[in-house]
Amino acid sequence: MAAAAKSVPGRPAEEACTANDVQEMRATLLAWYTAHKRDLPWRATRDPYRIWVSEIMLQQTRVAAVLEHYRLFLAAFPTVEALAAANEPEVLTLWSGLGYYRRARMLHRAARLVVSELAGVMPRTAEALLALPGVGAYTAAAVASIAFDEPVAVVDGNVERVLARVAGWSAVEAGCVTKVRTFADMLVDPARPGDFNQGMMELGATVCLPRAPLCLGCPWQQWCHTRGEHPVAVRRPQQRQHSVRAVWLRGSGATQQVLLVQRAADASLMAGMWELPGYDPKPDESPEFTARHAITVTNHVVDVYVARAEAARGMAGEWVPVNELSRRALTGLTRKVLRRLGCIK
Ligand code: SF4
Repeated sequence: MAAAAKSVPGRPAEEACTANDVQEMRATLLAWYTAHKRDLPWRATRDPYRIWVSEIMLQQTRVAAVLEHYRLFLAAFPTVEALAAANEPEVLTLWSGLGYYRRARMLHRAARLVVSELAGVMPRTAEALLALPGVGAYTAAAVASIAFDEPVAVVDGNVERVLARVAGWSAVEAGCVTKVRTFADMLVDPARPGDFNQGMMELGATVCLPRAPLCLGCPWQQWCHTRGEHPVAVRRPQQRQHSVRAVWLRGSGATQQVLLVQRAADASLMAGMWELPGYDPKPDESPEFTARHAITVTNHVVDVYVARAEAARGMAGEWVPVNELSRRALTGLTRKVLRRLGCIK
């Protein structure tokens, strides 16, 4: 057992704890996870497809934001065959609001590959899962361990932080990531790898928090060499971007239409998705309201002008009936603005 709460840089992974510690740490984490795990829909299944969808959605997205998207996505595409048979706009429409649309495109492409080349059967090992488009080491290990009990460790930013703190490594010291990987492989429970990995993720997400870890409630406190006394990475200030958009409206009631433009198919962000056109306001015009939206590390502040169609004559774009908006792959900001105006729910 660790005797003191102090940082131990430079120590190899094999010395982070004893073999006896490993056994006790596994048992303690599993008991804690069983008692404290959040009730999340993807934890009620061993279906590799459903676990895979949840892992892709959860990348860089908060659990709360994923829940409803996950439900709707699986209602529309309950199997890998259903997803493979969908067209891309259908997939992007149901992904709209989650951001990072490349994830959706890769998931869709991978589903088609599973159906066309693997007869609809998901690969059972992390190594084989890695061959699918959009599946990295983290997702492959998560699916293989949770759905198929393969004893492979998942390592993401949360797990790295927990294990670096437990071992007393500085996140900036040379080789820290490699040592964390080795430590994770030592710790993963071969009898219950899926629960162990989910316990690690849960610990990082709910207890060993980046800024202020809740060490008093931590099941690994007695083995932890830092107990929260650990340097955290300096956060870069968020960038801020200001832009102006117009909501051009034509008609009224159920026959009302909104002018949308489609992003280029080769755009680096949100390619092919639909958004509100840009606008150049007159000096005496005031925006209807200002919307805020965060994309990756950028905070977007958007002045929104609402206008009738007459002034939009000759503008590029497509007039989309309001009752068709929910079937379009809208950007998150566009969805937010149109929802605020009551054009969509
Ligand atoms: S919550 Fe505290 S005691 Fe637990 S692993 Fe993190 S830093 Fe260590």
